[in-house]
Amino acid sequence: MPFVCQLDFMHVIVHGGAGSPPESPADRQETLTEAAEQAIESEHPMNAVLAALRPLESDPAFNAGIGGAVQSDGEVRTDAGLMTHDGQIGAVCAMSGIVHAADVAYSVATETPHVLLAGDEAIEFAAGSGVETGRDLTTAETRQRYEAAGPPDGGPADHLDWVHAHFSGTDTVGAVATDGDQLAAATSTAGRWYALAGRVGDVPQVGAGFYADDRGGASATGEGEAIARFGLARRAVELLDTYGPRQAAEEAIAEFEDATGGRAGVIVLDRAGHTGAERNTAAMQTARR
Ligand code: ASP
Repeated sequence: MPFVCQLDFMHVIVHGGAGSPPESPADRQETLTEAAEQAIESEHPMNAVLAALRPLESDPAFNAGIGGAVQSDGEVRTDAGLMTHDGQIGAVCAMSGIVHAADVAYSVATETPHVLLAGDEAIEFAAGSGVETGRDLTTAETRQRYEAAGPPDGGPADHLDWVHAHFSGTDTVGAVATDGDQLAAATSTAGRWYALAGRVGDVPQVGAGFYADDRGGASATGEGEAIARFGLARRAVELLDTYGPRQAAEEAIAEFEDATGGRAGVIVLDRAGHTGAERNTAAMQTARR
């Protein structure tokens, strides 16, 4: 049984995605810091991670919710996953028009017997549980970026050729929080730029984009296909058997790189509130409280 203690206050670590250095790092850092500050006001770690993710999902500077990556058909589709140390899990994927995908993941965890809901039915479920739907997730900048790539106009084969030529990008958001007793991890994304319409990455897959158990929790970001193949978030938490969170994150990324050659980042938090973060990309901004 890992060391567990009731901490005096909520501890949280938040990330704003692993990838290339962002254009306005100072603004993004301020948003991440505010997100972490809001999170620690929460009573329960599940509410803390949602409080951290909401402002990031609303901010076009991050790849989740508004301003998120656009798929081959011009649509932004959001995915999220959330898990607690005692095995509550909710995930959603391929949702158009939903900014706060992590809130829908929470509803799946707390209101259904399921782990993952997808597509139109996930959107209907979100509306029924009071999450706002029908939002335009594009911005002038993302519409221009999509148009600049010369969108495919043929059938599935043309879309696939176009994806092979353009597929790129990362910058998802995630958070892990604990009060020393309960712990929750969550990740939210619009996926990767110029992916095939309907593509779903690591983020809503348990153990890939998010994971939590008695030892701690993790949220991953980066090349979702590689992260899913390796199971990055779960591996980072497993490594807490041997290491503290900082080394667990470092070791997980080293193993991930060896196994897949991919690019990613991961944040880790144990139930005593210690944090770790590692990446093999050029940048990954985090905030801790
Ligand atoms: N991992 C996300 C995905 O592949 C992208 C990201 O981290 O920004 O969907």
